[in-house]
Amino acid sequence: MSSTAKAIAALQATLPVEQLLLPGSDAYATSNGAYLAQQESELQPAAIFQPKSAEDVAKFVKIVKPFAVGGSATFAIRGAGNMPLPGCANDDGGLTLDLGFLTTVELHENRTVSVGAGAQWSAVDKVVEAAGLGVTGGRSGNGGIGGLSFFSSREGFISDNVLSFEIVLASGAITTASPISNPDLWRALRGGGNNFGIVTRYDLATFPLPAGPSKPLWGGNVYYFTPGFPAQIEALVAELKKGKDADPNTHLLISTGYSAQFGVNMCLNTVYYTQPTDEAPPALQPFTNIEPQVQTLNSLKPLNLTEAAAGQAAGVASHVRVSYMNVAVKADVATLQAAADIYNAAVTRIKNATGLTCSLTFQPYPVSLLETSAAKGGNSLGLDAAHGPVVSVLLLTYWNSKKDDARITEAMKGALESIQAQAVEKTTALKYVYLNYAADFQDPIGSYGGLNKAFLQGVSKTHDFEGLFQKGVPGGFKLFT
Ligand SMILES: Cc1cc2nc3c(=O)[nH]c(=O)nc-3n(C[C@H](O)[C@H](O)[C@H](O)COP(=O)(O)OP(=O)(O)OC[C@H]3O[C@@H](n4cnc5c(N)ncnc54)[C@H](O)[C@@H]3O)c2cc1C
Repeated sequence: MSSTAKAIAALQATLPVEQLLLPGSDAYATSNGAYLAQQESELQPAAIFQPKSAEDVAKFVKIVKPFAVGGSATFAIRGAGNMPLPGCANDDGGLTLDLGFLTTVELHENRTVSVGAGAQWSAVDKVVEAAGLGVTGGRSGNGGIGGLSFFSSREGFISDNVLSFEIVLASGAITTASPISNPDLWRALRGGGNNFGIVTRYDLATFPLPAGPSKPLWGGNVYYFTPGFPAQIEALVAELKKGKDADPNTHLLISTGYSAQFGVNMCLNTVYYTQPTDEAPPALQPFTNIEPQVQTLNSLKPLNLTEAAAGQAAGVASHVRVSYMNVAVKADVATLQAAADIYNAAVTRIKNATGLTCSLTFQPYPVSLLETSAAKGGNSLGLDAAHGPVVSVLLLTYWNSKKDDARITEAMKGALESIQAQAVEKTTALKYVYLNYAADFQDPIGSYGGLNKAFLQGVSKTHDFEGLFQKGVPGGFKLFT
């Protein structure tokens, strides 16, 4: 009997059978079929456990640990299942812990909101918005915890706004990581991935949304044509280089890409303003007034938080083949222009892949974001406001057929490496790689820098000295590789 089979037998003996899903059942098919990336759904775990409480998670860890600690049985931890890296949140032949039933969203009198690890942002937005509050949550209503928010220029990364984590450690203990309880763990969890335990609840800060006749946000999408992109790069860099004088209420991304459905290269500005307004504020006008644009697709308007998140969730393909990869560079026109040229040339080579939809997206981390991030206790990412604004460069690709996997990955990896080489040549390269958008050949933990990596390794040794989350949970990016 394999270690995994023994672990399943032990789980069956202790935990409610309806929460342990086995291949062949409808519930198993529903859970395993619901990843964003088809490549992740193709993995077939031997069993899926769906905890309904932190106590269930603790029981799972205690039962599975004897089999998993040496790596002979393994398990995966799954939140919303939106990170496209295959194997990061599913385990072929192993066990998958699907946190999708931990969906509590509870707003407290002190205006913090407790969010279960399986909740989606749309549910969180709904609860806080009803109380006139906002939260630094994901842009997409479907997303899991992590990354950038509409409010990030002002409030920092989403993880910077986690006041405390409830986490199940390798011992099976349910504990809290906050500035006063396990502060090392609290900082490590802000960027350190699934290396320290299973987070069962996030307690997040909220803030009042501006009240008034107009809705508290404004924004949407502006579609335009590729000849307009160089000017948008210039506008982006000019806005970022205002440094402390940049408007902290803006959130913007600019993209160039291709869609086989329409057979054309197109560009997209996604812009938001986090104060009430009925028209584009000055800081956003360079990104909204671009001409010519596709007027019928222009979605700029006043929004409430739930509408904004629903807008970002709409149109996201799910259950297709997906690849994300990214690098970060300093805000520099020549570097970003070179990146766009390299990218467009690479896309030309894969345009005949069925169902191709792909984009190169520049997501800025303005100085205000990096400063706020540090002021809120810092994280383990190794980003420093003193180095100026950062632009995260994301290569996002969706396609239909497995037969195109290798050539698409090769083309995009080649483009990424060329973009990085250009940045090195122009002295604008940064080591940082955003973990949630990283590909399997990238090393986001190493990109945080030697000191941060050593810090994370130390936290792992303190709270998981046997290395359960290193060997027993092989998916995602590990600390000792
Ligand atoms: C449609 C879409 C929209 C997005 N929108 C945004 C956005 O607005 N801003 C942004 O910056 N990013 C965004 N992203 C990227 C996003 O940050 C990540 O996809 C998301 O945060 C991952 O969370 P998840 O719950 O889906 O993780 P999963 O895919 O379930 O897991 C990802 C990794 O985290 C680990 N993990 C998950 N939950 C836990 C837990 N509770 N405890 C320990 N480890 C855990 C898993 O083991 C795995 O390694 C988006 C992605 C998509 C596909």
